[in-house]
Amino acid sequence: MTKTKGYAVHNATSPFTLFHFDRRDPGENDVEIEILYCGVCHSDIHQTRDEWGRSIYPMVPGHEIVGKVSRIGSNVKKFKVGDSAAVGCFVDSCRVCHSCHQHLEQYCEIHTVQTYNSLENDLKTPTYGGYSKLIVVDEQYTLKVPESLHLPRVAPLLCAGITTYSPLRYWKIGKGHHVAVMGLGGLGHMAVKLAVSMGAEVTVLSTSKHKEQAAKQLGAHHFILTTEPGAFAKNANKFDFIINVVAAPHDTNAYLSLLKLDGVMVVLGAPEKPVELNHHCLIAKRSKIAGSLIGGIKETQEMLDYCAKHNIMADVEIIPMDYIEQAYQRMIKGDVHYRFVIDMNTF
Ligand code: NAP
Ligand code: ZN
Ligand code: ZN
Repeated sequence: MTKTKGYAVHNATSPFTLFHFDRRDPGENDVEIEILYCGVCHSDIHQTRDEWGRSIYPMVPGHEIVGKVSRIGSNVKKFKVGDSAAVGCFVDSCRVCHSCHQHLEQYCEIHTVQTYNSLENDLKTPTYGGYSKLIVVDEQYTLKVPESLHLPRVAPLLCAGITTYSPLRYWKIGKGHHVAVMGLGGLGHMAVKLAVSMGAEVTVLSTSKHKEQAAKQLGAHHFILTTEPGAFAKNANKFDFIINVVAAPHDTNAYLSLLKLDGVMVVLGAPEKPVELNHHCLIAKRSKIAGSLIGGIKETQEMLDYCAKHNIMADVEIIPMDYIEQAYQRMIKGDVHYRFVIDMNTF
């Protein structure tokens, strides 16, 4: 075991405090990573506050992890000491079910070992995430970081990037599609960049007037302020796809009215409470609602390589570890441009 430290919460209302814990020494297939940066995802807020239920404490959140390999096991082939490496939302899975065989480990039918707030495959050992100095992960669940990318701006790709890339690919979104991105935060700004890079016409649907300029700078072609009176009626029947990344309660039915005939709303946001769905809003235009969960390891590597090829990275605000409470407050207010990334050298 190696002693390390991170920042943890101890229940749903406790503040973050310094937390000392152990990481396993690298086994023969493991990579030990000195964590340099970790992105702050809204899922970290949901889970530290137990908004999804079943939270495990103490909890060290963080699943947008980048760093340098510090030790490797004897069987490790993909990495050598000193390489850049990354870890996303899960660190293991059953490896034998139908989903795992299809490189869709995030949908493992038996047990996906989440990077934090989860148990290892022994169903006993808690996992601790990236708001920490060190992590040890099987190389099969560790990503190579193309060296042309800037590490702090890569971190958010490990969740916000893959979570938006995967449904864009699944639904074959590109030229000829008009796509709306609903909510310009961490996931939203990556959805804009990726959808634009794939050739789609992109509109941002935002509740924040001040984000219009930034939306255009990110590459969006249009901006709709959804809080403006008449915004929904004026923009009815416009979009082939809506990528819904909203983390708070909202009127899904109103947004469905913006879809064209046969349009699809892809829901990625996971608000605390269930949303109310009026069936009439689906029936009227043969609309579909579909979910999507992060992405498998193979697709995450493909996304990182795609981002390197197209020079796509997140827009980040780098923060010290002890800014985390303020960062959460600002994210809840929608005041994020567009991902907070913690510099692990600050504690
Ligand atoms: P974030 O950075 O906080 O962004 C969320 C954005 O939603 C806000 O910036 C805001 O954008 C918009 N918004 C907030 N309240 C709203 C409301 N009441 N009505 C309409 N829009 C509102 O969050 P994130 O990290 O991108 O995560 C977004 C959600 O995705 C979270 O629920 C997270 O848990 C979930 N998530 C899901 C997956 C998955 O695999 N499916 C993976 C990661 C995260 P505007 O200011 O532009 O309105
Ligand atoms: Zn996330
Ligand atoms: Zn499985």
